[in-house]
Amino acid sequence: MTRRSLLAGAPLAAAAGAAQAQSGPRNMAISSSNGMVCCNRVLQMLNAGHDTLDAVVAGVNMVEVDPEDTSVGYGGLPNEDGVVELDSCLMHGPTRRAGAVGALRGIKTPSKVAKLVLERTDHVMLVGEGALRFAKAHGFQEEELLTERARLAWLTWKESLGTDWGPGLDAPPDQGNARLRELFPDARPEWFAWAREVATNPPTGTINCLALNAKGEMSGCTTTSGLAWKIPGRVGDSPIIGAGCFVDQEVGAAGSTGRGEENIRICGAHTIVENMRHGMSAEEAVLDAIRRVARNYDNDRARLEKFDLFFYALRKDGQHAAATLWDRSANSPKRRQYVVNDGSGSQLADASYLLERG
Ligand code: ASP
Repeated sequence: MTRRSLLAGAPLAAAAGAAQAQSGPRNMAISSSNGMVCCNRVLQMLNAGHDTLDAVVAGVNMVEVDPEDTSVGYGGLPNEDGVVELDSCLMHGPTRRAGAVGALRGIKTPSKVAKLVLERTDHVMLVGEGALRFAKAHGFQEEELLTERARLAWLTWKESLGTDWGPGLDAPPDQGNARLRELFPDARPEWFAWAREVATNPPTGTINCLALNAKGEMSGCTTTSGLAWKIPGRVGDSPIIGAGCFVDQEVGAAGSTGRGEENIRICGAHTIVENMRHGMSAEEAVLDAIRRVARNYDNDRARLEKFDLFFYALRKDGQHAAATLWDRSANSPKRRQYVVNDGSGSQLADASYLLERG
């Protein structure tokens, strides 16, 4: 089967897949590939009898507070003004409740604030200044979320734009990174090359985590610092219920990471859950969502090559899958993967995909 025939709508079975079937509900979690520790934590919580929503929030919190993950929470790459703005949403299957925050500044754990919106307001979503005031009213501490590593990346990006930032006309001949190294004396050597890479190719990244327990209860959460160098106030799909995350206790749960604008335009997570409601397997459901995204670009490979998008699905019976637009990233030979923990520890599984990079 050629790539072109895949785009033209050939059978989904042609795309490699890793969907698994379970015999019935059991304690389990799946997440984006940055969620190894997250899914282990979720399983610990589920095995100790905690609620599925408490478990997914505790799981993603581990990634939110980790400065090494530059796509989520503390240490996330900032907006174009150098300010970290965080988005998150979550849903609790058994009570069918939802909470979300968008463009939240100064709080490391937006998923916890989203949970409070669910629990302590008559609303579903708070954004910006109001979300921060609400968090502080509930005892959250406002903190600087921009780490030195993220600030280095932002400054590198800012100086790459050809504006007045960076060495002026009268500056001595270029001394490479020497000056920047003086400005960031504690930076690890590899940070400079990484900063140039993310300045040139603004990365995406986020964590989505979906959980099921042995009683068949489900919850899901997505949390992110969003697109690097975004316009202040931009929110992607991650805080949008039905796009970044959706849970229907009768059917299953779905979530997304990657270029949020594409997901919002197909209401991805809701679409996937509805697909499963109407009988699709988890794998068929996520691939159908990916195909809708490709269709929005008339299957134009040249434009689709500019981004990637991931969908994750967990059915109420334990079947799960993930699918991406592309089999791998532009600069890696490795297949796209996601994390599965069905009780025997977090493991990476291959995601299905629609298109192969040449
Ligand atoms: N989906 C996130 C957003 O668009 C970013 C990402 O997952 O990389 O904000």
